Amino acid sequence: MAFSPKVRKYLVILLIIGWALTLSYSAYRFKNPKLTRQETAQFYRNNRLLMGTFWEVVSPHKEASLIVFTEVERIERLLSKYIQDSEISQLNRSGKLKVSPDTFYILQKSKEFSQLSQGAFDISVAPLVDLWGFTTQEHNVPSISLINSTLKLVGSDKIILHEKDNVVEFKFPGMKIDLVAIAKGFALDCAVRALKKRKINSCLINAGGQIYALGDRSGKPWKIAIQNPRKPEITGILELKDASVSTSGDYEQFFLKDGKRYCHILNPVTGYPADSGITSVSVIANDALTADALSTAIFVLGKTKGRELATKLSNIKVKFSQ
Ligand code: ADP
Ligand code: MG
Repeated sequence: MAFSPKVRKYLVILLIIGWALTLSYSAYRFKNPKLTRQETAQFYRNNRLLMGTFWEVVSPHKEASLIVFTEVERIERLLSKYIQDSEISQLNRSGKLKVSPDTFYILQKSKEFSQLSQGAFDISVAPLVDLWGFTTQEHNVPSISLINSTLKLVGSDKIILHEKDNVVEFKFPGMKIDLVAIAKGFALDCAVRALKKRKINSCLINAGGQIYALGDRSGKPWKIAIQNPRKPEITGILELKDASVSTSGDYEQFFLKDGKRYCHILNPVTGYPADSGITSVSVIANDALTADALSTAIFVLGKTKGRELATKLSNIKVKFSQ
């Protein structure tokens, strides 16, 4: 059976998490033959296709997955560019819209990350994403003149946020926004908030490769295996507790033309796919929105500027793959 790269990445991570859970659980049992009921607690696992990717929830609490999926579905309905009546689709059509507090918040954060990254992360990159064919998967290399004219529509300073009434306005007709690089992170944070409200404090959520580890599993940090992006091998094990890891790379969505690889993460300053010499970067942060936005930004910036960006924020870890 043929799987898309996103689904393949998900399946590998799914297997790895299962393997890590089984391994650490067996080891724990072996060393602790007298287990209490709490320690032998079962983990419930459930998955669903949301925001164009597989979401998996692992938790000792049976109700955790439904809480996560309900919240992620709510965010998807607000932010997806593939849902015709989402707030983002409406805004992209009209150029001006009063939006919900959640949408307004993610737009504020997106502008903040554009400024911090000096434009490496920019949600107004949408017309370029369309131009290169990444929205419809009908890829092509556009002419320089088309890239230059499209670049005039790009730049977060051209998105005006009216704070008093939550109205969003584009400065120029033809502008569009694309929240793909930050929405999954935001949805993860919203799901975690919903879990905490219901007093659930142990849960691992895998959103197609971006992970949030809430609390611990039976007193130990959650273990996440990192896969080599170009080979089926594990390059390391991460231990996470109340933190998120997001990976951005050139191996997931790309096309090849005349032997050159063009990836789906674009440099909003040049108008061309990012070409900073790295294959992938993983960012660990306390919240998933930050990990998501930063991994995209650092993939565009490359090692040196990427590390500089990470130091502007507290508690960020960055790992590059070779
Ligand atoms: P993934 O969705 O695979 O986790 P990212 O989080 O890095 O990867 O998001 C990449 C997506 O974000 C692209 O498919 C495109 O829709 C959009 N995008 C591309 N380049 C940028 C950029 N420089 N800043 C913000 N969004 C981008
Ligand atoms: Mg991202």
